[in-house]
Amino acid sequence: LRVLGIETSCDDTAAAIVTSSGRILAETNVHQHAVHEQHGGIVPGLAANHHLMNLPLAVRSTLEQSGLRIDDLDAIAVTRGPGLPASLSVGVSAGKTLAAVHAKPLVGVHHMEAHALMARMESAHVRFPFLCLLVSGGHTLTLLAHQVNEYSVLGSTLDDSVGEAFDKVARELRLPWVDAQDGGGAGPALERIARQGDPRRFALPVPMDKSASARLLDFSFSGLKAHVRRMREAGQFSPASPQDQADVAAAFQHAASRHLAKKTALAFKRAREMQVEVTCLVVSGGVASNLAVRAALEDVARREAVEMVCPQPRLCTDNGVMIAWAGVERLRLGLLDPYTIDFIQRWPLDELKRMGYERRA
Ligand code: ATP
Ligand code: FE
Repeated sequence: LRVLGIETSCDDTAAAIVTSSGRILAETNVHQHAVHEQHGGIVPGLAANHHLMNLPLAVRSTLEQSGLRIDDLDAIAVTRGPGLPASLSVGVSAGKTLAAVHAKPLVGVHHMEAHALMARMESAHVRFPFLCLLVSGGHTLTLLAHQVNEYSVLGSTLDDSVGEAFDKVARELRLPWVDAQDGGGAGPALERIARQGDPRRFALPVPMDKSASARLLDFSFSGLKAHVRRMREAGQFSPASPQDQADVAAAFQHAASRHLAKKTALAFKRAREMQVEVTCLVVSGGVASNLAVRAALEDVARREAVEMVCPQPRLCTDNGVMIAWAGVERLRLGLLDPYTIDFIQRWPLDELKRMGYERRA
C-alpha cells in the first residue's frame, strides 16, 4: 500500500508518501518558524494563510519526489484534529478534495494517534498494547495504546507542557532559540549548557510529589518555571554568568526528568491495575531527543522489563510521514471516512473508539 499524508494542524505544512512496509517514498515539510518568531508565538490566522499558500506545492513536490501520480496511491490521509481550526480546515479541505476527485479512500487522522503510531513504522516489534509518553511543545501525556483506534489517556499536564517549560526556563536564562530543523525551541540550547552544570547547586522541587490520588498520573510544569523566575528575581543567580546558567539548566533538567520518570512509572502501575500487559514504552515528541530525559525513562523501562523505543528526532516532531503511516495502519483495518468529514478542534483521544467509520474491506 502507498498512502499520502497531509499535516496542517499547527504551524508546519507537511506532506509525505509512505508504504505499508514503512518506506518513506517522499516527504516535504515547510516550516513557518520564521513567520511566527517575530510575534513571540504562533498567530493562528497567519498559520492558516501560510498553509493556504504552501500546501498545494508541498503536495506537488512530494508527488514529484516519489515519481508517483495520485492514481498510484491507495489512500489519502489527512490530520482531522486536534489543532488550530483554520489550519486544520486547509488540510482537511485539500485532502478530501484530492480523495474525492480521484475516488480514493479517505482517512481522517487524529494527530496524537499519529504521534503514538510513528514508532511502529520504524520498529516492527512495537506491538500492542504499549505505553506511550508524548513530550512535545504542545503536549505532555501518557497513554495506553490498546490497538489502532483504541487508546486510554492516563495522565496529561494540568498547566504547561514540558517543552514549554524548557523554553520558558531557557528564556529566563537568556538562551537562544534554534530552528525547527534542529529540534525547534530553546530546549536544545538548555540541554547543551546543562552538561557543564551541577544539578545539586540549586535544588528545584520535583513537581506534584505529594499530589492527591485523583491527579496522581497528571503532570505539572508551571511551578518549576515559576521557581526559576523567582530565583532570578531574588538575585540567586545571574543569567549573565555562564556557570549560573549551566547550574540552573542542570537543576531544571534534572527535576523535569525526575517528574516525567515518576509519572511514567505510575502509568505503568495503572496499566497493571487495568490488567493490561504493556510490551513496550514509546517516547515521542521534541523533548524525547533530550538525553537526560531519555536516560531517566530508560531507567523506568528497565525496571518494568520492557524495551524503550523513540522514533528518530525528525519523526518525533510534527511531520507528514506520521500522518501517512497512521493512514496505512487505519487503512489496513478498513477504518475509512466519508468525503463529508469536518475537522475536529478538540478531540480527546479516548473518544476515537466510539466514533463511526465507513468500514470497507
Ligand atoms: P505538538 O506536536 O504537541 O503540537 P510542537 O510541534 O510544538 O508540539 P515538537 O516539535 O514536538 O512540539 O517539540 C518542540 C519542543 O521540544 C520545544 O519546546 C523544544 O524546546 C523542545 N525540545 C527540542 N529538543 C529538545 C531537547 N534536546 N531538550 C529539551 N527540549 C527539547
Ligand atoms: Fe504534534
